[in-house]
Amino acid sequence: MNAPATALAEVTDAARHGAKAARLARLIAAGAPVPPGFAFPDDAAPEALAPALAALEAQSGLGFGAPERPLLLALRSSPVETAAPSSPAILNIGLTRDTLPGLAARVGDRAAADLRRRLIQAFAPAAMGADAELFESLLYDRMKFSGVESEDALSLAALKALETEYLAAVEEDTGERFPEDARAQLSLAIAAMRTAWAAPTARILRGARGLAPDSAQALIAQTMTLGVGPGSSGAGFATTRSEEDGAPGFQGRYLAQAQGEDALMGLRTPRLLTEGARREAAQTAPSLEAEAPDAATKLEAQAALAELTLGDACRVEFTLEAGELHILDAQPLRPTARGAVRIAVDLAEAGVIGREAALLRIDPSTLTSHLHPTVSARAPRDVIGAGLPASPGAATGAIVFSSEAAETLAAREQAAILVRVETSPEDIRGMHAASGVLTARGGMTSHAAVIARGLGAPCVVGASDITLDIEGRTLTTADGRVLHEGDIVTIDGSAGEALAGSPELVQPEISGAFAVLMKWADEVRRMKVRANADTAQDAKVAIGFNVDGIGLCRTEHMFFEKNRITTMRRMILAADEHARRAALAELLPMQRSDFIGLFEIMAGLPVTIRLLDPPLHEFLPHGPREMNELAEAMGLPLKVVTRRAAEMREFNPMLGNRGCRVGVTYPEIYEMQARAVFEAAVAAGEKTGEPVIPEIMIPLVSANREMELLERIVERVAEQVRGESGAALCYRIGAMVETPRAALRAGDLAATAEFLSFGTNDLTQMTYGLSRDDAGRFMRDYVAKGVYPEDPFHTLDVEGVGELILLAAERGRARAPGLTLGLCGEHGGDPASIRFCELARFDYISCSPFRLPIARLAAAQARL
Ligand code: PEP
Ligand code: MG
Repeated sequence: MNAPATALAEVTDAARHGAKAARLARLIAAGAPVPPGFAFPDDAAPEALAPALAALEAQSGLGFGAPERPLLLALRSSPVETAAPSSPAILNIGLTRDTLPGLAARVGDRAAADLRRRLIQAFAPAAMGADAELFESLLYDRMKFSGVESEDALSLAALKALETEYLAAVEEDTGERFPEDARAQLSLAIAAMRTAWAAPTARILRGARGLAPDSAQALIAQTMTLGVGPGSSGAGFATTRSEEDGAPGFQGRYLAQAQGEDALMGLRTPRLLTEGARREAAQTAPSLEAEAPDAATKLEAQAALAELTLGDACRVEFTLEAGELHILDAQPLRPTARGAVRIAVDLAEAGVIGREAALLRIDPSTLTSHLHPTVSARAPRDVIGAGLPASPGAATGAIVFSSEAAETLAAREQAAILVRVETSPEDIRGMHAASGVLTARGGMTSHAAVIARGLGAPCVVGASDITLDIEGRTLTTADGRVLHEGDIVTIDGSAGEALAGSPELVQPEISGAFAVLMKWADEVRRMKVRANADTAQDAKVAIGFNVDGIGLCRTEHMFFEKNRITTMRRMILAADEHARRAALAELLPMQRSDFIGLFEIMAGLPVTIRLLDPPLHEFLPHGPREMNELAEAMGLPLKVVTRRAAEMREFNPMLGNRGCRVGVTYPEIYEMQARAVFEAAVAAGEKTGEPVIPEIMIPLVSANREMELLERIVERVAEQVRGESGAALCYRIGAMVETPRAALRAGDLAATAEFLSFGTNDLTQMTYGLSRDDAGRFMRDYVAKGVYPEDPFHTLDVEGVGELILLAAERGRARAPGLTLGLCGEHGGDPASIRFCELARFDYISCSPFRLPIARLAAAQARL
């Protein structure tokens, strides 16, 4: 059986004694002046601690409960799971009526009296169930009575009077006398720490952090070092780096005549550590450096030692006892996302940690804060609407309620925030023009969310607590405030909140440490990382992020541009094939020039172009004004145009005539697109001298018969373009696996398709039978109630959708061993889903340009 207690210096097992005890052991081994102590499980019987206590007494030359030279103990929690919140330490245990004179002989009468009242004030609420406020108000009254501003100014007489009042209050409130026996105090304190750990609130807190509510804690009993006493005595904390940006620099706070967390509590203004910091802050109180230069020098060296020993930037807690420095802990710093990258890279470059450790230390999803402006952590937040964090970053601008208004402001070079109930393809122009987007409805894969991520524009969707009157151009907040068009708001797409006004923003930083980290990630990852890019602008952003190609170009987005949509609509509403082909002939050069642009920007990297996917009526106008304009453009009576549009409506468009079904029913559309791709490939190839090998991707396949049919059409066009151009045109054809049947029959598809790309947005929608456009309305409830562990449109459902993917991968590869496998749904930017793809040995993942750094790091981490 394990001994119940282990000397701190001998702790090796963090799983038994907790991260704190293990950390202190490493610091002791490195020579840090950590007060001696011992660690034990929180259910150890107090009597079983006797040998460890005796050893501590022998080591310190003090006696626990001894009237002369009394040993005082601090009892601290050391959770086994590092991230578990721990309850506050109980300090000064062993300070009884009998040991008070002995302590006074060491630290002076006043300091001893102050330590005594501190013990009662903290111990009685924590270990005896007394009301903490009683002591607060007695202290307050006593300070008022004594005419002093802070507790360190109380006289010995005042502290003695306070002790008497405290003891009476304990008895009155709990019906118990304050324990005047050191061992009794220790037993009660241990029981209190155990109870606090097992309390429902603590369990809920652990659960909320994703930890097991039942996880264990160890306890540490440690010799007290006294920050209250003669000479330079006090407590504080020091760091080696800035939490804001990770830049090196010794800094911290120090409070004279203080213990524990006092320096953080804001009761008195703490002092700064260095003269430089003091001058900068124009503080009049002397810095620690001025008051106790030796201690300050030692503290700086100890902070550096802790960083070196623990391999991370630390916040060192320290006590000065009569000028002598003691290190109480060195916890990892909690820097901002940018600070974390700087620290990890600095430490790896200095050889303190390895590159792999640096890569693993960064949460990929936090990288977006490098790419976009973010709301400063210091800025006050006046939240006017909360929803889902659909696209990260922050933008400030004037509220507009229509795309036209967004475009008008953009023309005047003014920032607009487009506010809609939800967006539709018609809003794309407005979204391009706007700096940020807010919708009252929609989920993480709603139209607004997908487009905003592609644009890199901050976006909050599903802010159901706001009420919109689009006609009246007002936004009403949950607390009844009414905002009008033109009012300034800020979208915090990382937090999923809209804020009133213009809080301070921090600008992006993608060079320096960030660039170094990305380079390291690229050296480690196996999977290619491609971008979902529809426009030249997307492609340029992607190239800036060192992309490996385009994994998904959604060609439909090219048709929504101002001068194209009418032609597109004429094509859709054409009376017959002849009229349809005439409109398609007008669209051909437009598509071709778009593709040439993409091929040129991608300069030889693979480009996957998906043929038209949405139901055609998504392109049709909604309002009567636009319908009228269309009728005029087509030279047809409004009635005819309206009737044709009505005929196209479907009951269930997402399961209707969309995807490759459009290609099967209107082959001339796919013919035009294939021609545009091939002619562009030839043109771009001639320009650069490098042949372009385009990848043509067929969406929403459910049977190989569809692939065969469409491949024949595509090949016929390729043959024509070869004949016309004389170029030896090569291309690859692939299928999107977006229906469960396509996954099940992937073996068949692999007979025709050279690559399979999993469209996990639709595949998730169809596997669950869950509308991706409507799920946002109830997804929060579903996740909150634990029905789904996560939003499956955000993180891949490994159990269900994942099984289909694995099955498809296996069947596809069995049929065609060289089959290329990729994933291009929104999951391509989600680290957990990327890990799944690495395990399934995918060739690539594809995600929105602004998620590329996340994907690159996640792909690297998946290999480590
Ligand atoms: C998908 O369904 O996962 C996909 C990439 O296609 P889209 O989002 O355009 O339907
Ligand atoms: Mg799809």
